[in-house]
Amino acid sequence: MIGGSPYCEARNDAAHYAGRTERGGILLGFRRGVHLHVNAVTRPTRWDRASMFAFHRHTRGHAATALRRWRQTGETCDWLGEWHSHPEQHPQPSSIDLRCWQGITRVTGVPMVFVIFGYSETWVGLMEPGSEKPVRYYQVETSNDGILFSCATAKG
Ligand SMILES: [Zn+2]
Repeated sequence: MIGGSPYCEARNDAAHYAGRTERGGILLGFRRGVHLHVNAVTRPTRWDRASMFAFHRHTRGHAATALRRWRQTGETCDWLGEWHSHPEQHPQPSSIDLRCWQGITRVTGVPMVFVIFGYSETWVGLMEPGSEKPVRYYQVETSNDGILFSCATAKG
C-alpha cells in the first residue's frame, strides 16, 4: 500500500524532471505483518547524485529525514524502500538497480519495496533478502487510503 499523497509527491517530482535527470528518494512507513504501508517519501536532497547509488544517498540527507520521522512517530516509522525515475515509458530495473537492491536487502535483512517511475507506467517490486530479483507488484485498488499493490501470484 502506498499512500495517495506520498505517491503523487514522488511521481510528480519524477515527472517534473523527466528526461533531464533521474530522481530518487526513500520510502518510509509501517510494516504490519506481511503488509508494507508507505506513508511518506523523501525527495532528492543536495547530497544526491543524479545516478542512483542508494548507499551514497541514504547516508546523508535521507537518513536524517528518516531518523527524524522515526523519532517523531515513536520509533514505529520504518525505512521500507526506495524510489527513482527512469527515462522510459515502461521502466524495468537495470542491472545496477538489481545490484543496488541486493545490497540494500542484505543490509536490512527484511523485504523492501522498490518503485521506478517511468513516463507512462510505474514499476513496483518487493525484494526479499538474499533473492536475485524482486517480485513485481501490480496496482489492484485505489482508495482514500492510497494505492494497493499486490503480486500477481497472490491474485490467484
Ligand atoms: Zn534504475
